[in-house]
Formats: sequence, C-alpha cells, structure tokens
Amino acid sequence: SLSEKLQNVFKNLRGKGRLSEDDVRIGLKEVRLALLEADVSFKVVKDFIKGIQEKATGSDVLNSLTPAQQVIKIVNEEMISLMGSETAELKIKPSGEITVIMMAGLQGAGKTTTTAKLAAKLKKKGNSPVLVGCDIYRPAAIEQLKRNGEKVDVPVFDMGTNRKPVEIAKKALEYAKENHHNIVFLDTAGRLHIDEDMMNELIEIKDNVNVDDIILVVDAMTGQDAVNVAETFNEKLDITGVILTKLDGDTRGGAALSVRAVTGKPILYVGMGEKLSDLEQFYPDRMASRILGMGDILSLIEKAEMDMDSEKAKKLSQKIAKADFDFNDFLEQLEQLEKMGGMASILSMLPGIGGKSALPQVDDGQMVKIKAIIQSMSKKERLDPSLLNPSRKNRIAKGSGVNIGEVNRLVKQFEQMKKMMKQFPGMMKNNKKRGALG
Ligand code: GDP
Ligand code: MG
Repeated sequence: SLSEKLQNVFKNLRGKGRLSEDDVRIGLKEVRLALLEADVSFKVVKDFIKGIQEKATGSDVLNSLTPAQQVIKIVNEEMISLMGSETAELKIKPSGEITVIMMAGLQGAGKTTTTAKLAAKLKKKGNSPVLVGCDIYRPAAIEQLKRNGEKVDVPVFDMGTNRKPVEIAKKALEYAKENHHNIVFLDTAGRLHIDEDMMNELIEIKDNVNVDDIILVVDAMTGQDAVNVAETFNEKLDITGVILTKLDGDTRGGAALSVRAVTGKPILYVGMGEKLSDLEQFYPDRMASRILGMGDILSLIEKAEMDMDSEKAKKLSQKIAKADFDFNDFLEQLEQLEKMGGMASILSMLPGIGGKSALPQVDDGQMVKIKAIIQSMSKKERLDPSLLNPSRKNRIAKGSGVNIGEVNRLVKQFEQMKKMMKQFPGMMKNNKKRGALG
C-alpha cells in the first residue's frame, strides 16, 4: 500500500541527526505522491511542497524524532494550519432578522441533501428555518426537497417549476417574514459542469435578494475537478465557505486541501453519509492525516514522543525501588500525568486501586495548587521532606498562596504515597506496561 511505501522511504531517512536539503527533498517526493494520490490538485501540491521545502530544510530536529518523522510532522502541521487556520462558523443573525443562505454547487454534489442536513442542525439550535425549492429544472428536485424537509420537520416553500428562481427566492423571503422563519435556505439548481447560465442564475439571485451566505457544496469524490469548481464559484460569487460531501466513501479527501488552498474559504462541515443526520463538524487534523494517508507514521511519531517519557519513568521507578522518591519526582509525575489527560482519568486506570485509592484524590484544579506548593519549597526541602517543620511550612504556604493546612495535607499525602509505593513494587511494573505512571 501507499502507506507502506512511504514508511519504507522514511525508514531510510531514519537515524540521521539533522534535516539536510536532500533528506527533505527525498521525503517530500513521497509526500507529493501521497497528495496526488489523494486527489489534491496538481498546482496546490506544487505550491504546498515548495513551501514545506523551505520551511523544513535546516529546521531544528527534536531529540525524540528522526529527521524523517520530522518531515512528516511538519507536513502534517502545515496541512492542519492550511485547512483550519481560521475558525469556520456560519453566522446566524440575531432573532428578529432573517439570514438567507444560498446553496450552490454542481448537480449531484449533494446540495438538496445537505440543505436539509444543515437546516436540521440549525433547527436543533433553536432556529426556525425554511427550505426553498429554486431548482426548477427537474420536477423531481422539488419533490426530493419536500421529502427531506418532512424528514427533518422543516417546512418547504416552492412555486413549482414555472417561475424564475430569483422570483421564487423573493417570494420565499416574504413567506419567511410572515411565518417568522429566521433562516431561509435556497436550494438552487446545479449543472453537470460549470456553465454560464447556472452562474448567471445564481448571480441574479445574489444581486436581487439579500443573500447573507453562499455555501458551496462540493463532492469530495470529484477529486481534481473540485478545484476548478471551487475557483470559479468563488470568483463569480464570493462564497462564504464550503461543505464537502461524501467523505464516507473511500476518497482520501484531497479536495479539502485543494478547495481551501484555492479559495481561501473555510470548510464548514463535511457530509458523512446519505442520512440527514450525517453532517459533521470539520476537523482539520483528522482531514490532514486522512489526506496524507499516513496514520501509521503519525502514530509512530506519537509513540516516539511517549517513549521519551517512558525513559524518564524508568529512572523514576528505579528511584522508588531505592526509596528515594522525593518532591521533585512527585512534581515531575504530576506534570506527566497532567500531559496525559488529568489525574482523575489516570487514577482510574491504575491496577489494584481503581477509583477509591490510597493515592491522594486530586482534581485538575488542585493540581495547580499542589504544583505551586512544591515550587515554593527549596531544593533541600524537595529532596528531604523531613525538613519540613512548621515554620518552613508556613513560609511555603505564604509563597504559594495557600493556607498551611493545605501544605500539611500535601506532605501527609506524599508520605502515604511513598509508603504505598514501597509496599507495592509490583504495581509500578504494571503501571509501566499501561503507560500510566510509567
Ligand atoms: P444535488 O444535485 O446537489 O442537490 O445533490 P443531492 O442532494 O440530490 O445528492 C446527490 C446524491 O448524493 C444523493 O443520492 C444523495 O443521497 C447523495 N449524497 C449527498 N451527500 C452525501 C454524503 O455525504 N454521503 C453520501 N454517501 N451520499 C451523499
Ligand atoms: Mg438538488
């Protein structure tokens, strides 16, 4: 598979100390292939790779990563920032005002389906949408919109197939006002290819009705074509954003990168199936790893980063075995636990103790306090907690902005924890396997 091919190439790059121009060039050659195979447009790939080349060459290599992994890390991060650098939210006007959203796109892209999906989503948030049948060229289109409207319990306004779309849109706005709908969705007609009549019809609606947002619906499976579609629609209509449909298929979704790069407009949602509930938020990080097709390598990078932590943990368990676990270690542990997603979840993972543990019960707010207390201790105190007499504790309490009772409690819990760790050396081994404390 492609992913395997890539892994092999990057394996060859591994073990080097630093990113040379050649490393990057060789690595990016494969990234280029990966992007093209994911149907990212040729021009977008070219520009993107060029940008990365400059960025990656000579960049600092993290200790924990091989140069190869570093290249992928940079590519991945660049893709994420390209696709998600600005937050993409559809703005609905305050109550009492009507937001008009025009759906545009080629025939079969998923406009009619997505219109209902989006209306359902916004209705759940307390809006009162109405769907408008502006596709007058296929009688079945209005029927389809009505069926969809029924399914999500959103009314549909239509005037059959004998009126111009712009007239229908105008009338629909009046209808919305009279019936207190605050969002009007215009479901327009598409063509199989970009064509002048279609564009002019959309422009006419835009110029004559107060359209607030124009959402371009793009089929993710159309691959390279998506970029021309997006470019033209955006040039003529200045779209608000994009919804990418049919990502439930086996496409790698390169259209997302192309469309975003070419229009500069955000991807608002993604269609993940034919059901009207299958509309999801767009996650740039998931999209990036899907387009790259390097899930394996990305988790490898994650693992490399964790290995570094487990190196530290090994040293720690040696210290515990020798019973010289001190407050510095304790602090380091807390920080590591914090990185891993909070104390509560970690504690529940520990074998043998479960929820009700002999370990201090610490929530993430207390964590901040505990860290402050330890940080207020002197070096000597951290290494030898038996030094902590009342006057030292007082000083620490003042320094960390807590009362002395809290310092006392922490010291006591620390002693208990230390005792328990000595009693259960086996526990630490288990933890290591699970990657919790080790
Ligand atoms: P329109 O011509 O742009 O209005 O497209 P339609 O809404 O009629 O959709 C065309 C076809 O694509 C229909 O069969 C839809 O069920 C299907 N479709 C739309 N969105 C999705 C999606 O996210 N996933 C899948 N699998 N099918 C979709
Ligand atoms: Mg349609």
